[in-house]
Order: sequence, then C-alpha cells, then structure tokens
Amino acid sequence: MTARRLDGAALAARIRAELVPRVAAFTAARGRPPGLGVVLAGNRPESEIYVRNKLKAVSDAGCRADLVRIGEGASLQDALDVVARLNTDDAIDAILVQSPLPGGMGKDAEHRVFEAIDPAKDVDGFHPANVGRLVQKRPTLVACTPLGCIELLERERIPLAGKTAVVIGRSDLVGKPMALLLLHRDATVTLCHSRTVDLSRVAAGADVLVVAAGRAGLVTREFVKPGATVIDVGINVLSSESDVHRFFPPESAKRKTFAEKGSVLVGDVHPEVAEVAGAITPVPGGIGPLTIAMVLRNTITAAESRRG
Ligand code: NAP
Repeated sequence: MTARRLDGAALAARIRAELVPRVAAFTAARGRPPGLGVVLAGNRPESEIYVRNKLKAVSDAGCRADLVRIGEGASLQDALDVVARLNTDDAIDAILVQSPLPGGMGKDAEHRVFEAIDPAKDVDGFHPANVGRLVQKRPTLVACTPLGCIELLERERIPLAGKTAVVIGRSDLVGKPMALLLLHRDATVTLCHSRTVDLSRVAAGADVLVVAAGRAGLVTREFVKPGATVIDVGINVLSSESDVHRFFPPESAKRKTFAEKGSVLVGDVHPEVAEVAGAITPVPGGIGPLTIAMVLRNTITAAESRRG
C-alpha cells in the first residue's frame, strides 16, 4: 500500500486565495489594509527564510507587512521596546516575534517577549491569555503550525471524533496546542515526549499520528498502524551522504537533490512509512506552507476583531 499524499502546499495556496477577498473587504471598510509586524532578532539563516516567506504571503494577499530587525547582540529590553511600539501602532493588527530569540537575551526571553505582546495582536497565539483561552476551547488566536495541521485534517475529511490521536513532541509552539486542538475535536489524545516509554508501541495505537520532535526519521514503520494518517511537522536538514543513503534509495529524487545541493530537507517520519500509512504529509510541501497560510489567516482575524 502507498499512502495518499496530503498536499499541504496546494491546500495552502487555496486557503491564501480564499483569504484575499477578506483582505479587500477589510481594506475597503477601514481605509487601510490589515497590518502584520514581524520582529526578527539575530541572523539565523532558517529564521530569515521563514520570515521572508511569511512576509511575502501576507503582502501578496494585500496586507501591510513590516519587518523590524534586531541585531544578534540586542538585549531583551530592545525586543520588549519593539513589541511595545508595535502594540500601540494603529496600522499594525498582528505581531509575530520569530523564535528562537538570540541566546544572549536570556533563558526566559521568549516567555517575556510573548507575554509583552498585546493578546489581541498575538498572531502566533503564544500569549498566556490566548493559550488559556485555547485550553478552555474559547475563540482565540491559535499557534499557526498546529492550526495548519488541523485545517489539513479537516479539509481532507480525516475523521477525528472518537479516534485515537498520538502527538509526539510537547513544545508550547507545536505539540501542546496540537494535542488540545485534537482533543477539542473529540479525539482521544496521547501526548508523547523524550521520556515516553515504548514510544513506537504507543504511536502504533494511533489513527492519527502527529510528529513534531525535530528528529530526522524518528518515526519508522513499526510506529505506524496500517492505514493511519501521519502528519509530519518536523523539518530537518541532512547534510551527510551516509544519512541520505540511510533514508533514500539509489535513483531517488532526494539523492539527486543531495548530489546537487549538498543537503536535503527531511521530516521526522522515515520515508518507508509511506508503505504503511493511509495518508501522509510530505516534507517539504506539507505543514510548512500551511503554517504560513495560517499566519495570514490569523493576521486577518486579528485585524477584523480590533475596534476602530
Ligand atoms: P522542540 O521545542 O525542540 O520540541 C521537540 C519535542 O519533541 C520535545 O517535546 C521533545 O521532548 C520531543 N522529542 C525530541 N526527541 C524525541 C524522541 N526521540 N522521542 C520522543 N520525543 C522526542 O521543537 P518544536 O519547536 O516543537 O519543533 C518540532 C519540529 O517541528 C522541528 O523539526 C521544527 O523544525 C519543526 N517545526 C516545523 C514547523 C513548520 O512550519 N512545518 C513549525 C514549527 C516547528 P522533551 O519535551 O521531553 O524534550
């Protein structure tokens, strides 16, 4: 059996197109477009790419998209000052602080900065007030990656009510909100992490398996019940030939990409899982583009919800 490929990139393009009329209606009514302010601290190459893609998606839909850069050596106070300015800027409806923040800002910097964002402008849904509202199943801005996963599952008509869902990874950004979103759709949810005993056995009970561990190829065929839906959130770079050979057979497209570029992107799910699963997301082209579509949707939702 070969799993059905859940094409996140195609769905994300459809969602982005569906959102354009909402942007136009907002702009006509308010005399200005919805505005997103993105704060990028430091110079991590991956963060540069993520931020560029988010800004492009938002501005392509007709929104205003401002980038505020903070240097690698900036202090936590510098980041808090930028957030305070965006909070009071009437042209900005939504604020996104790209994580991770530079290590020099201190251990608790992300909590401090996310907490400083006006909850009504918290496009990533990381503010404790929004997390609390999510826990209580009240309307709120929800973290974009798990929101993208749910959107994909629902639009692909994957049943969730009464089903067994397993989430691997318990981060505040992905795993925990993912588990709550599944729970709120009446799945029976198990949330796993690095201390989970017998992970493959637990995972193999899942009708829906969401993997967000950041470990290339962690999930192999023994982790997957035949016919299960597998959502691969992980994004990992393989840059050694032996790793690439461990993942991909000779003549495969990924080996060709590796030969040309010296690295390939892989998820947390080993490609062999496609022989067992019923449906599976690719990496790249799965959850990544949906995350970006949800940044756009949350920006519009935040704008529409603001008074004035
Ligand atoms: P994170 O903060 O590092 O959290 C990883 C989680 O996975 C932790 O809860 C950790 O457990 C768990 N874990 C790690 N190794 C494990 C193992 N061997 N067995 C079981 N659990 C394990 O990462 P994150 O921010 O959630 O991101 C996870 C992955 O998703 C990364 O690859 C990231 O690049 C990717 N991501 C993709 C998108 C997208 O748009 N597609 C967005 C965000 C993140 P402990 O808590 O016990 O340490």
